[in-house]
Amino acid sequence: MKPLVTGGAGYIGAVVACQLLEAGHEVIVLDDLSTGHRDNVPDGARFVEGRVQRAGEVLDRSFDGVLHFAAKSLVAESVKRPEVYWDNNVVGTLDLLTVMRAVGVRRLVFSSTAATYGQPERTPIREDDPNAPINPYGQSKLAVDMAITGEAHAHGLAGVSLRYFNVGGAYGRHGERHNPETHLIPNVLLVPAGRREAVEIFGTDYPTRDGTCVRDYVHVTDLARAHLLALEAAEPGRHIIYNLGSGAGFTVREVVGSCRRVTGHPVPAVDQPRRPGDPPSLVASHHRIREDLGWRPELDLDRIVADAWRFLQAAR
Ligand code: UDP
Repeated sequence: MKPLVTGGAGYIGAVVACQLLEAGHEVIVLDDLSTGHRDNVPDGARFVEGRVQRAGEVLDRSFDGVLHFAAKSLVAESVKRPEVYWDNNVVGTLDLLTVMRAVGVRRLVFSSTAATYGQPERTPIREDDPNAPINPYGQSKLAVDMAITGEAHAHGLAGVSLRYFNVGGAYGRHGERHNPETHLIPNVLLVPAGRREAVEIFGTDYPTRDGTCVRDYVHVTDLARAHLLALEAAEPGRHIIYNLGSGAGFTVREVVGSCRRVTGHPVPAVDQPRRPGDPPSLVASHHRIREDLGWRPELDLDRIVADAWRFLQAAR
């Protein structure tokens, strides 16, 4: 196939672009490098620098589909600057859908998020549980999911949305490089790397087994593989949503414990108040994607941490 990968210079988009190339596909990456890195684009992919709004200059009938990663994805930033999220994530995707319709590219895999579920009433979360996002980031992604449903039903798009839970680890030379880094695992690993004295634990009074938040961590290698399956499986006129998580939840303290095990470093931790907007527990049911596409995660939390640690050491 010949897919366009928007956001292919970012962490997850680049890993998917790699796997597509390894599977023999022809890959074109469109990325404005606002948060991505030029050197993340895998060798063998054609690179076009530009915003999603410029997809019209790239896409033509010869493309088989689009994998759409390009987005703003920081919850706290979305609360401070919601207009950026509505413009970039929603307006940008509507423009992309218009271009795809105009040139006849009718297959889309979209990076959605567990943030659409807000503070879920039960876990593991299933795809047909209610959506009630609690921040503009989750709201913008849910709005796009709804737009894709309409596009599929009215205009025959073959759409798949993948709702990511907590993604970590590295694939080859591709790992997490955010600035500022807000995610738990890379932040914890800054301590054994000698770049921080201690990790902060945000909230120790949640109704969970040790008082810290529970999250579902999935390895970027496993996550990326689901995109290739979704691209192949997408059906005209249908929009299907899949959760992408391991199905197992780990507390913040358990993640810190994994980092201690993997690095052999004591990793001091300092308890802090809750971080605004954090739901106590987010764990996926991945039953639907397992049943439909045969996807299941193969790499566990210690492997996620080990690969993130290898990446961080190589990057120094
Ligand atoms: N967290 C933490 N210390 C950090 C970074 C994150 O205690 O330095 C917590 C955060 O409050 C949340 C969990 O770790 O409960 C996962 O946060 P992350 O930002 O990695 O992902 P999120 O679930 O917010 O998308």
